[in-house]
Amino acid sequence: MQVGNNAVVMIHYTLTGDNGEAIDSSAGGDPLAYLHGRGNLIRGLESELAGKVAGDALKVRVAPKDAYGEVDADLIQVVARSAFSGIESIEVGMRFQTPTARGPRTAMVTEVHADNIHLDANHPLAGKHLNFAVEIVEVRAATMDELSHGHVHGPGGHHH
Ligand code: ZN
Repeated sequence: MQVGNNAVVMIHYTLTGDNGEAIDSSAGGDPLAYLHGRGNLIRGLESELAGKVAGDALKVRVAPKDAYGEVDADLIQVVARSAFSGIESIEVGMRFQTPTARGPRTAMVTEVHADNIHLDANHPLAGKHLNFAVEIVEVRAATMDELSHGHVHGPGGHHH
């Protein structure tokens, strides 16, 4: 069976950035299972998997616009240190819920200064090209339950 809309697809994948840095991988664990055509996988990868069959292996390079988007300058803010009164120690990497031009978001602290804090609410992978090495493990028809829920049940998927 080919990968197409409403197929359940199980893949092993390795995701690296443009400098070869490892970002994510299913190696050593269960394959990832997803329901094709429901937006459960980033668009630029899902479209390249259509028509493939179990056993196929491919490399896919996905541009930011088809992955997590470009970096949005409106989501990078400099906030007065006084806005964090009551928090003793603020460190790079900490996350806060914050209002932004795009609504409330979770932002990560990227710089800490004596009188201000830099917050970035972009997705950590925004602006990055994503390089996937994918192996298709299995392709099967979705069950009626999976189709009505819009996601995969069982191994590698959601459990109810
Ligand atoms: Zn479900």
